[in-house]
Order: sequence, then structure tokens, then C-alpha cells
Amino acid sequence: MDLKSKIRVVPDFPKPGISFKDITTLLKDREAYVYTIDSLVAFCKDKGAELIVGPEARGFVLGAPVAYALKVGFVPVRKPGKLPAETVRYEYGLEYGSDVLEIHKDAIQPGQKVVVVDDLLATGGTALAAVKLVEKIGGIVTGVAFVIELSYLNGRKTLEGYDVYSVITYD
Ligand code: IMP
Repeated sequence: MDLKSKIRVVPDFPKPGISFKDITTLLKDREAYVYTIDSLVAFCKDKGAELIVGPEARGFVLGAPVAYALKVGFVPVRKPGKLPAETVRYEYGLEYGSDVLEIHKDAIQPGQKVVVVDDLLATGGTALAAVKLVEKIGGIVTGVAFVIELSYLNGRKTLEGYDVYSVITYD
């Protein structure tokens, strides 16, 4: 399937010079959405995922259906102040800015196999933050999966040592 044709590229969003890959056009396309989720599910299954972790907000849209398909749980990683119980935090640099992410301290059982799912791998900072949060609370990251990889931003280098999968790559 030509998934790239389903992604809308928006120039200069959210800042001049950034070519934003908009997946909402893929999500609303029944065949493209199913194909994308099925691809992510196959990878997560192969990695023995016992839990799916997704950073807000697009990591929810993709990670939750993957978890449901695998009949495993889903754990959200969120911006600070959103999770109500005790959290662990991690600060990181982003393609456009810097940020903090949090996870509930009791979200993962020690030794549980986790795959992190997000929409897009740019520099890898966000995904690494999610990976570190999982590890801080005792999970084992067996894979990191994306719909889109911008390979020219070298996110795989940031995630060196982890098994990285992407459905679509932009070179
Ligand atoms: P990274 O941390 O530099 O890898 O940036 C990835 C994060 O920023 C992901 O959570 C994405 O949702 C978001 N992001 C960066 N660039 C884009 C884009 O072109 N389209 C959609 N999301 C993006």
C-alpha cells in the first residue's frame, strides 16, 4: 500500500522550516489505518510485548488499538501535571523545544516486556524519554515502534541498542 500518499505534509508547521507530517489524513482512511495498526501489531507481537506504552497524544491513538489487538494493557506517558497519582519524570530535548514527560510510578510490573509506540521518530528524544521512564520503573523495553521515521534526523542513533521499527521512512 502507498501509505505515503495518505500522509499530508504541511510546510512551516509549527515553525518556519519544519515540514510537518500530518497523520490525521492516514487515520481517517480506513484501509491505511488498519494496515498501519496491523503492521505495528505484528512488530509488537514479535517483540513479545506484554504492555504497550504511548506518549501523548498521538501515541495514544496508535498505541491503544495495538494494545487492544494484542490483548495487553496500555500505559500513557504524559506531559507534566496530567497524571493524578505518583509519577516519575524525565526531561528531554525535542525537535522543536524541550519538554518533560511523566509516567505513573506503579504503571509497570518489574520485568514486564514493553514496546513503546508513537507516531513519528524525529531526533528520538521523545521516544528515548518514554524508554527511560519505562526502565526507571522496572520495565524491559523490547522494541520501539513508529508509523513514520525521518531517517535524516538520526533518531535510530539516539535509540541505539533498542530494536526500532517504522512503517514508513522519509529519507
Ligand atoms: P523527536 O523527539 O525529535 O523524535 O520528535 C518526535 C515527537 O515530536 C513525536 O512525539 C511526534 O509526535 C512529534 N513530531 C515531530 N515532528 C513531527 C511531524 O512532522 N509530524 C508529527 N509529529 C511530529
